[in-house]
Amino acid sequence: MSLEKVCIIGSGNWGSAIAKIVGTNTQVHSQKFERTVRQWVFQEKIDGQNLTDIINTQHENVKYLKGVQLPENVVAIPDVVEACKGATLVVFVVPHQFVRGVCEQMKGHLAPNARAISLIKGLEITPTGTRLFSEEIERILSIPCAALSGANIADEVAREKFCESTVGCQNLNDGKLWHSLFDTSYFRINVIEDHVGVQLCGALKNIVAVGAGFSDGLGYGSNTKAAIIRRGLMEMRKFGQMFFGDMVQTETFFESCGVADLITTCSGGRNRKVGEAYAKTGKPMDVLEKELLNGQKLQGTLTAQEVYEFLSHRKLENEFPLFLTVYRIVYENAPVGSIVRDI
Ligand code: NAD
Ligand code: 13P
Repeated sequence: MSLEKVCIIGSGNWGSAIAKIVGTNTQVHSQKFERTVRQWVFQEKIDGQNLTDIINTQHENVKYLKGVQLPENVVAIPDVVEACKGATLVVFVVPHQFVRGVCEQMKGHLAPNARAISLIKGLEITPTGTRLFSEEIERILSIPCAALSGANIADEVAREKFCESTVGCQNLNDGKLWHSLFDTSYFRINVIEDHVGVQLCGALKNIVAVGAGFSDGLGYGSNTKAAIIRRGLMEMRKFGQMFFGDMVQTETFFESCGVADLITTCSGGRNRKVGEAYAKTGKPMDVLEKELLNGQKLQGTLTAQEVYEFLSHRKLENEFPLFLTVYRIVYENAPVGSIVRDI
């Protein structure tokens, strides 16, 4: 049996943490995977040096995951075509606004039997429709795509603090393979057959986390945040039921990708952090993103906008008061206090 050739598309905070796990597991399961893991890195200069050269010599992504050693079998490559050429397993972990452009460049370069998994937390939403990134990847590259999402703040995972994650797949044989690629003693994978629910949770929780950040910035306490989390969970489930029907299983909301991710993101995530700073300073979100995240990308504000456009096109925005309020605070200068007044 020929060995699976793994490629990781993306090298931000989560992309780097997952590269550490994948690079370790291809060595552990050497009967299944080729040892070398190719990682596409969006090139940038750090003190005059290419980030890819730094990763390949120091085995550390000094910009996006400082202080964490990457396995030496993870090879950083700045050209996406070279990185993905002949790959049989492709791990997508780029901020959601970049997925389509990257996929278009990869067309025709993967192995014919390639499979993908999306670690992206976002949705491809336009006023006329909503598409999961697994569907977008399947559509552009004509390969099957599963999804992984969970309560996984990258810095904590990279420092091997115990957590769980959920793989949603359409084919349990592929699910087993993804399990071998990702599961470790500190990163425990549960495989379920609901790739839709896994991705919906991962995308929509980011809107709720921005709202939780507003609450923190206003100095409200734990009870208020719990109320925002509860209402957020209800809106996430309602969105799933309304637009994806039976394709989303209620049990999925009790997996790591559901309520657990909502709790962790509303406690320690970047969306929460920037939401808090917005409530305290009133500076625009994009300015705060630059000031606070050092090149990392905020997903919740963009998703709030996309979800609002999708809902308002159908005159359904009032059915989702929390999603609507986060949108109005960020994009229509609604008072931050409306996060409790209007939900
Ligand atoms: P990040 O936000 O830390 O970094 C941004 C990345 O985008 C960098 O690698 C940067 O080089 C790249 N980039 C910048 N401009 C680009 C362009 N024009 N084209 C392509 N790439 C460009 O990234 P991340 O945290 O790895 O996030 C990737 C996905 O993983 C997101 O959907 C996020 O929600 C999800 N996620 C993140 C975490 C986390 O804790 N960081 C955890 C779970 C899931
Ligand atoms: P943030 O993007 O808000 O940091 O969330 C990270 C995450 O998805 C943790 O599971």
